[in-house]
Amino acid sequence: MTIISNYHIHSEFCDGKNSMAEMVDSAAEKGLKSIGITSHAHIQGEERWTMDKGRIQEYFMEINRLKGLYGDRLEIYTGMEIDYLFDTGLNPVMAPYMDRLDFFIGSVHALGRTDDGNYWFVDDNWENMEKGIEKTYKGDIRKTVEDYYDYMSRMVRECKPDIAGHMDIIKKNNKDDRFFHEDAAWYKDAVEGFLDNAKKMETVIEINTGGLKRYGPECFYPSLWILKRIKEKNIRLTVNGDTHRKEEINYYYREVEELLRSLDYTEIYMLKKKEWVPYRF
Ligand SMILES: [Zn+2]
Ligand SMILES: [Zn+2]
Repeated sequence: MTIISNYHIHSEFCDGKNSMAEMVDSAAEKGLKSIGITSHAHIQGEERWTMDKGRIQEYFMEINRLKGLYGDRLEIYTGMEIDYLFDTGLNPVMAPYMDRLDFFIGSVHALGRTDDGNYWFVDDNWENMEKGIEKTYKGDIRKTVEDYYDYMSRMVRECKPDIAGHMDIIKKNNKDDRFFHEDAAWYKDAVEGFLDNAKKMETVIEINTGGLKRYGPECFYPSLWILKRIKEKNIRLTVNGDTHRKEEINYYYREVEELLRSLDYTEIYMLKKKEWVPYRF
C-alpha cells in the first residue's frame, strides 16, 4: 500500500499555478483516492496569495462540480487553509462559510504588523521576517518563536482545525541556525507545548512536503525529531503536499513513506466519508 491522500492543495483561486480541475485531474492520474482542496482564505491587502473575496461562491461551485465529475473514483473534500491571526483569531472572513467546509487547515503565518499596517509573515523572505521581529518583538527571537507556538496552541484549542498546517514553519528562514537552535531547551519546550495541545484536541498534524520542493531541505515540516515525538505521543499524522503545481501533487511521497517506515510508523490518518480514520500504508 502507498499513501493515496493529499489534503493541502492550492490552485488558481489563490497562489497555485494550475486550475482546480487540473490539480484534481493530476491527483486522479497519480492514483490518489482522497484529496482536499484548500485555498488560502481571503486576507485584506493580501490578494497576491489569498483568494479574492468575491470568488468564494465560485470556489464552492467548482469543487462541487468536480465532486460530481469524479464520483467514487476520487473522494474530494471541500476545505480551506485559514489563518489564525494574532489580532482577530481565526480569519473572520470565513465565519459565514464554515458550515460549507468538510474540513479546514488552520495555519499561523502572521505574527505582527509592519509600519504600513500590513501583516508580516513568518514564511516571507528572511529580511522581511527579521524586520518584522525587530518591529513587533524588538529583535527578541525567543519571544517570537514562543508566541508562534502559543498561537498554534490557541488555534487548536479555540478553533479546532482538522489539520494544523506546517506546524514548524517558523523555522523556514532558520537555515544554518540563523535565528535559533532547534536543540535549545526553550525551543523544545515550545514545540512540546503545542504537541500536547494537538494531542488533547485530536488535531491531525501534517507532514508537509511543499516547502521542501520550493525552498530546500530545511523546509521539510515537521523536523525529524518532532516526527519522532509525534509517534511517541501517538498524535494523528497525515501526509500533505501543500501543492501549488499539478506535477507536484504527490511530491516526495515515496521518500516520506520510507522515512515513516524507518520510524516504525505503519499508519497515517485519512478522511473516509468525512471522518478521520487510520490508514495502513
Ligand atoms: Zn500555509
Ligand atoms: Zn498551503
